[in-house]
Amino acid sequence: MASMPLPQRLLMGPGPSNPYPEVAAASAAPLLGHLDPAFLVELDEAMARLRSIFATNNPLTFPISATGSAGMEAAFVNVLEPGDVVVVGINGLFGQRMAEVASRHGAEVVAVEAAWGEPIDPEALLGAHPNPKVLAIVHAETSTGVRNEVAALGAAKGDALLLVDTVTSLAGCPVEVDAWGVDLAYSGTQKCLGVPPGLAPFTASPRAVEAFVARPSSWYLDLGLVAAYVSGDGSGGRSYHHTAPTGQVVALNAALGAILAEGLEAGFARHEEAGRRLQAGLEAMELELLVDAPHRLAQLTTVRVPDGVDEAAVRTQLRDRYGIEIGAGVGPLAGRVWRIGCMGHTARLANVEALLGALAEVLGR
Ligand SMILES: *Cc1c(COP(=O)(O)O)cnc(C)c1O
Repeated sequence: MASMPLPQRLLMGPGPSNPYPEVAAASAAPLLGHLDPAFLVELDEAMARLRSIFATNNPLTFPISATGSAGMEAAFVNVLEPGDVVVVGINGLFGQRMAEVASRHGAEVVAVEAAWGEPIDPEALLGAHPNPKVLAIVHAETSTGVRNEVAALGAAKGDALLLVDTVTSLAGCPVEVDAWGVDLAYSGTQKCLGVPPGLAPFTASPRAVEAFVARPSSWYLDLGLVAAYVSGDGSGGRSYHHTAPTGQVVALNAALGAILAEGLEAGFARHEEAGRRLQAGLEAMELELLVDAPHRLAQLTTVRVPDGVDEAAVRTQLRDRYGIEIGAGVGPLAGRVWRIGCMGHTARLANVEALLGALAEVLGR
């Protein structure tokens, strides 16, 4: 059993997406040590490319050695002291998770909620507390397919640090860290970056770095310590903190190269075209989308399960008969929706047509 080849899947759930072909090639390259100069060239290139993709000049921009959730934890743990006020927008699972992470690190969380499927009102977030340490929001809420407004928050954040989850937005739609006044942002590799899960691209503004606490409550995610490796000591020297996952960084760098070679704008347009075609095709099948058009992401679409349909059986048939993975609903939407991703290399019309055809057959529509 274990020696059987793994099945090919078209990955159209909420992540992972199918990796870019450049990633497979890079994954077969020889392994390098984490202080090998040949590896450091790759790391430096990946960091420079991440600055382009985050649209930032932040020196501290690098891939954290763990999945997107570690990016979230790092963003909070490096700036929070017990009792600090964190205002969090919650309109889905990942906003809830931010509130949980912040409160475990001792923050006083002020939650600003919207229904799952609706966006957070930026004015409500800005008005929730007179002097918060952090304003936190999920840009692309993968549990619902809603895009939350970020630019308006940066423009009026005052002394607060603006902390943004860009896990599903980065490389799928515009993310402008510097222009929007974002102080801390993190992402994940397995969504629109088209790389297997395992790294969390991260960026911190000089203002955020100024605000770093001396002794964060996590040793592994202490960015003061990690920076001695990723950025060096200022004279080029780099010292060991933990063993960088060198193979994963090389794979990420290959995908970032592919993304920039295509062009960020062209990549956004490709996500937009694929996502909108998917949404039109679902509506043509008389399926109902959860999110209103102005707030709807292209890279993640949530569609209601029609009455009388066994939602899990549909996903099983899509996987077993057609080799296509889509996602289930979570939280209050469990059992009521499917979540369909058009992310990274997967965001192409041919894949959308394959899914629409398979779904029409399974549903008999
Ligand atoms: C997937 C996701 C995460 C968590 O990332 P993991 O890689 O699963 O740890 C966080 N935020 C959002 C918006 C996500 O979609």
